[in-house]
Amino acid sequence: MPRLFCHEHPEVLIVETRVVDARPGAVVLEQSPFYPGGGGQLPDRGQLRGSHGALRVIGIEVTDGRVWHLLDEPIELAGAAEAAVDAAFRAMMAELHTDAHVLNALVFRHFQGALVTGAQLNADGTARVDFDLPTADNDRLRAHEPEINDVIRQDLPVRHAYVAAADARADRGLLRSRSVTPPPDADGAIRVVEIVGLDRQACGGTHLTSTAGSRAVRILKIDNKGRHNRRIKIGLTGESPR
Ligand SMILES: [Zn+2]
Repeated sequence: MPRLFCHEHPEVLIVETRVVDARPGAVVLEQSPFYPGGGGQLPDRGQLRGSHGALRVIGIEVTDGRVWHLLDEPIELAGAAEAAVDAAFRAMMAELHTDAHVLNALVFRHFQGALVTGAQLNADGTARVDFDLPTADNDRLRAHEPEINDVIRQDLPVRHAYVAAADARADRGLLRSRSVTPPPDADGAIRVVEIVGLDRQACGGTHLTSTAGSRAVRILKIDNKGRHNRRIKIGLTGESPR
């Protein structure tokens, strides 16, 4: 897979581009700032502006490596367009996604390298992460909420790098998901996201540039999902952590 524009230029949310393929209500763009979704993170939302006026981008569909932007009207577009990501939505996804890494890092550290079995970030400011944790006590898990907020308060930098796929597989703990590995890019490299001083893991999502960009987090709920899976639901609060 080619590297995503939103990975190379996460701060660029508006791009002047053109439609290279279209069907009613959907376009492929020459260049797109939109995150296409994946790894539990929702695709970006936003607008496509041009001679047709402004249409809403309400979803993304990736078919055979082509990124289709789904529009709110069944119009077939052509020509130049300005693609604009909804900045508030992207920021909230980055916030939740970074907090999911913090949770994941603490569970990995305190529960003998427990792996992730699933994750979903939601538009309402909540996220769930499922872990392979057959024996953990839910109260012990819940007790890590202050530590999540402590990491946020410490303002640890978040950065990314590309690691050769073979090296990534040999590095214990880098591939944190039990089932999903982010696809290597065209050079065979896997993207690794590091919260400096806390955690490194393969991930293809979007993140904050440092942990203090997040509001405080609450652990809302812990459910047992089957014999092995523990589902931890977190939510952003309106506050900065104290
Ligand atoms: Zn991530």
